[in-house]
Amino acid sequence: MTATSARGDAVVLAVDVGGTHVRSAAVAQGGAVSHRSRRRTPPDARDLVQAVLACVHDTASQLRLSGGLTPDAVVVAAPGPLDRTAGAIEASANLGAPRVALLEPLRAALSLPIVVEKDVDVAAFGEREFGAARGADDFAYVTVSTGIGAAIVLGGRLVTGAHGLAGEIGHAPVELDGPPCACGNRGCLETLAGGAGIARAARAAVTDGAGGALAQLDDVEAIDVAHAAAAGDAAAEAIITRARAAFAAGMVSLVNAFDPALIIVGGGVARGLGEPLLEDARQAVARHAYGAAARATIFRAAALGDDAGLAGAAAVVRAWGV
Ligand SMILES: [Zn+2]
Repeated sequence: MTATSARGDAVVLAVDVGGTHVRSAAVAQGGAVSHRSRRRTPPDARDLVQAVLACVHDTASQLRLSGGLTPDAVVVAAPGPLDRTAGAIEASANLGAPRVALLEPLRAALSLPIVVEKDVDVAAFGEREFGAARGADDFAYVTVSTGIGAAIVLGGRLVTGAHGLAGEIGHAPVELDGPPCACGNRGCLETLAGGAGIARAARAAVTDGAGGALAQLDDVEAIDVAHAAAAGDAAAEAIITRARAAFAAGMVSLVNAFDPALIIVGGGVARGLGEPLLEDARQAVARHAYGAAARATIFRAAALGDDAGLAGAAAVVRAWGV
């Protein structure tokens, strides 16, 4: 017998349920991601559970083939809002499906401990253990992708709120008479700075007669608008400037509400908008946040990229004591 515990080479089977793909992988204790699999995210709730299971089985059989490893636990990172007790995704505007119960069918199919956690929360723990928030006890992780959400960690503990809705800053109103949001309000942060909102604004600009680069695009996405803006297209520049201003205003509110030392910004749209998105937020916080210390809040780009929601699974298992 050696002193190496089973835990020493333990792996967690991580699943990330995204708007376009369900992805799975094995994650080592040190955060290394391997044995990947993925499926397109189906629109139907029952098909979504099947896609998650197919990915789990895929990664599990890859693990078996490479040395007979068995995962210790399964961690599913799912988009919010999330019913943590039931392990179910509540009706999600960005997923297109009604409520999706994940925990129950997964428990019926797998004989492993299973955790279903909000994707931003998993990513936040990933960044804390392996990425840009290493050692931070008071920080926020903000994702800017199709929508916008945040994970709040204070005193080393995840703040979930009475109804699991803490951190839903995508629906903070930043322009009271702004564009309508799927949630029923107007001018929510994500309608202006989220990927879907940016794409919608670009389509509206074309409908309103904007020519230039935007009119040339068939199926416009936020990243195309960012590229067009960077190339000097006036209509695209106006949309991106407004998105950055909205994001900066949202970050001032986040700083005033939670007083984090550090804000990590991740997500595909944040990557597409690049450093200027963070710089505008830094400047707005330096000018408008309440209190000198808050005005010095550090903004940093996420380090783990698309893998944050997978790598974080190893951190979640440790933090939750699964
Ligand atoms: Zn909203």
